[in-house]
Amino acid sequence: MTLKQRDKKHLWHPLTQHKLHPESIAIIKAKGCILTDENGNEYIDAIASWYTCMYGHCNDYITSRVSEQMKQLDQVVFSGFTHEPAVKLSEALINILPDNQQKIFFSDNGSTSVEIGIKMALQYHFNNGEKRNTLIAFEDGFHGDTFGAMSVSGLSVYNGPFEEFFLDVKRIPVPNGENLEAILAQLEKISKDHKVAGFVYEPLVQGAAAMKMHDVNDLNAILQFCKSNHIITVADEVMTGFGKTGKHFASLHMETKPDVMCLSKALTGGLLPMALTTCSQDIYDAFYSDDIGKGLFHGHTYSANPLACTAALASIELLQTEAIQSNIQRIITSHQTFGEHIKKHPKVKGIRQSGVIFALDLDVEMQRYGNLRDKLFKFFMDHGVFLRPLGNTIYIQAPYVVTETQLEKIYQVIEEALDIV
Ligand SMILES: *Cc1c(COP(=O)(O)O)cnc(C)c1O
Repeated sequence: MTLKQRDKKHLWHPLTQHKLHPESIAIIKAKGCILTDENGNEYIDAIASWYTCMYGHCNDYITSRVSEQMKQLDQVVFSGFTHEPAVKLSEALINILPDNQQKIFFSDNGSTSVEIGIKMALQYHFNNGEKRNTLIAFEDGFHGDTFGAMSVSGLSVYNGPFEEFFLDVKRIPVPNGENLEAILAQLEKISKDHKVAGFVYEPLVQGAAAMKMHDVNDLNAILQFCKSNHIITVADEVMTGFGKTGKHFASLHMETKPDVMCLSKALTGGLLPMALTTCSQDIYDAFYSDDIGKGLFHGHTYSANPLACTAALASIELLQTEAIQSNIQRIITSHQTFGEHIKKHPKVKGIRQSGVIFALDLDVEMQRYGNLRDKLFKFFMDHGVFLRPLGNTIYIQAPYVVTETQLEKIYQVIEEALDIV
């Protein structure tokens, strides 16, 4: 029996309705930008396996560093203990994060890093003797699948069974270049009518909303409003972090820095699961007290796993190399050239780009998980490119090590796909 057949017996996959999508493709190998399935077919991983393996799959530098670390220290409790990989990682991160970020809290997935960001915002006010219990978030945001993260996510099409248990969240529209005044007025009203603890947002690019992008100055104005009203700003950079938008972090594009940041995905270069919630000194100080109850009583068994820390450290070193930085610039330029060309196509409604993230909207009505979307996905796979369209949006977020030839192939397959829609 093939892996594909054996899979069906006991496995339950994420974000999958198994009755409609009974088959999974079995991948047996990955190297650089190439995934190989059990029949020997190869696919260019044009979305870096959900934006994680930005330095290429099974990157030799990262894997050798982690395999060295494996022989030294595998896992230890992070309450009461510390270790070199965590210390070194904190130092490397503080060097590249926005300069107001001072403290780093570990967890193991993006949703949880947001959960912790929400707890920091709520408990910050609680510890300061203020009851603030409302959060603000963008419409169409996505922050993960745990309860707090689901609550702040606007894209909750399939959250029906849980909605009555959600946190109190007020939503504001995403800036579109014309609605800033209206958004600020709405913020004014929300913060008058409610006790607002924090604002959770994906800075500049909303990933799951189909790579929707918004303006730096507009977002800066919203952050400015939050600062003046003591609303804790929680930047969810789980997707945008580590170079995607052309800078190390999307938050570096804005003058106003977030109080809290959530990181995961490309953090470990796709090798191991890990996440971080970082914060400013002011946030940390609100928890620093003789009163034990004012601490952040949150923890996960695998917090700061030494192997994951080592993978993250090696990834950050790679990110800062001349080679990766010049690749990023090359990809940005290639996407721009492709964008100029493809935007004139009659089936293309529009294109957008932020750093290495490129998205194209098809001029057709499509369901997020409908038949046409499945047909497109199959077309891409049949042509050796792994892309996952989101509704009528096709987006590229290839590893930084993608070659020009591989990029050309991705562009070509996308252009051919326009003929089948
Ligand atoms: C993927 C993602 C998450 C959730 O991360 P998981 O590791 O899948 O739990 C949260 N926020 C954003 C912006 C993401 O892209």
